[in-house]
Amino acid sequence: MMLETQDPHELWAQCLLNIERQVRPQSFSNWFRPTHVNRFDENQLVIQVPSLFFADWVENHYLGMIQSAVEEETTLVPKVSFVVAQASEADSVQTSPATPPAVVTRAEPSLPAAEKAAENTGDNGAGKASPAHETSLNERYIFEDFVIGEGNRFAHAMAIAVAKSPGNTQYNPMVIYGAVGLGKTHLLQAIGHHARHLDPDLKVVYVPSEKFMSDFIESLKNHNTKEFQKTYRSADILLVDDIQFLIRGEQTRNEFFHTFNALHQAEKQIVMTCDSPPGELEGLEERLKSRFQWGLIAGIDPPDLETRIAILRQKAERNGIHLPDEVAAFLGSYISSNIRELEGALIHLMAYCSIHKSELTIEAAKGIVQARGPGQTSNLTIESIQQQVAEHFNLTQDLLIGKGRKQEVTAARHIAMFLVKRLTRNPLTTIGLHFGNRDHSTVIHAVRTVEKKCKNDTSYARVVEDLSEAIRRQHAPE
Ligand code: ADP
Ligand code: MG
Repeated sequence: MMLETQDPHELWAQCLLNIERQVRPQSFSNWFRPTHVNRFDENQLVIQVPSLFFADWVENHYLGMIQSAVEEETTLVPKVSFVVAQASEADSVQTSPATPPAVVTRAEPSLPAAEKAAENTGDNGAGKASPAHETSLNERYIFEDFVIGEGNRFAHAMAIAVAKSPGNTQYNPMVIYGAVGLGKTHLLQAIGHHARHLDPDLKVVYVPSEKFMSDFIESLKNHNTKEFQKTYRSADILLVDDIQFLIRGEQTRNEFFHTFNALHQAEKQIVMTCDSPPGELEGLEERLKSRFQWGLIAGIDPPDLETRIAILRQKAERNGIHLPDEVAAFLGSYISSNIRELEGALIHLMAYCSIHKSELTIEAAKGIVQARGPGQTSNLTIESIQQQVAEHFNLTQDLLIGKGRKQEVTAARHIAMFLVKRLTRNPLTTIGLHFGNRDHSTVIHAVRTVEKKCKNDTSYARVVEDLSEAIRRQHAPE
């Protein structure tokens, strides 16, 4: 047989026809249409799927069927494995040691490809860029992935206007304010992505204000405040996240004041986020408050039901999952305020269904509502633990969950996973999914690492115990 010279795609298409005869049409379009094949020969069949959850699901539900379809159609008995296609290769999660996907599937949002190109040239483009800051934009936070609803329509429209002509609108500075988990960071970073998409030479600096503070303190210690100032004052667009934390240090506030003035005078764009209207920030001096009011202040309100459902649909689609309307409606009405929690619930549902081998049904959704604990007595969710651990270690939640391997970040991440395992009843798979699509074995590793360190280092054990207690207390039923 000439199988080796045969096109893997054709072989796989042949197998799909076989499978299509055996499963319900809905299941086929949910779980097989989105697949691609990366390799197909006598040794290996590597199937590319849109998400780790998806891989898990297909493996659990359909592996046997795939194997027999392959054997019937090709007489080959390859080892079947799955790879996840993601926006960037660095992010790709693999369930098997297969080669990284050469093609990026529809799971990729439209902008990142252009973004990446911009980033690559941007790094040495005109020698202006500072990679350390430029790369800290999260690829997911783009306008294309931002669902517009009543609560954020204005902020979104203004953000687009600013991204299109940074520094040249009356909206300088722009302040986006709103409660936690409503999309402030997402919008802020989307401005950076879009502006750089339109002009790859722009120097976009994104910085959480805690980092602004720690960079500044570091520079004081090392006597290189000049270097610090160069980084921040040479920005074309300075994006400062969570300025409410600026109130913590007087020297930092002073430095920020001067950074602000320098940039504003040079007609460079400044965009900030804040958890309340800046005028109401206690502990911030008037000179800063008044400057924050020079430009535009845009609030984000919690999403209405329709928007919550739209967000759930969009997130499901990004994971390559079909979310039935009634399930979206159920989850959307169950979680009302925080979009991060909404995302969490969806991830939870996907993990739950994977473990219980059920479709994404309303019953399964009810199951996760129970698994997430009774809302009124405790709101101890994975997200809330992540948030508290991130705050404790002065990290952003994104960093904590992200791919970063810096030692402090990894150590904090381990503790967060450990505490989630200890304080909630979530299965390891679920916990892994909540930590940036990580595998359950990563969670086990984290838990073991923390346990071992606690045994050997009493001061470390102390930190972990105190944090655990603080989280428990904060979330204890009244
Ligand atoms: P904040 O900074 O206000 O605390 P984030 O920007 O971190 O909130 O948003 C929390 C999560 O919710 C992120 O994963 C973000 O992508 C998502 N999110 C928030 N608003 C929207 C929206 N309008 N559409 C899609 N996703 C959103
Ligand atoms: Mg934020």
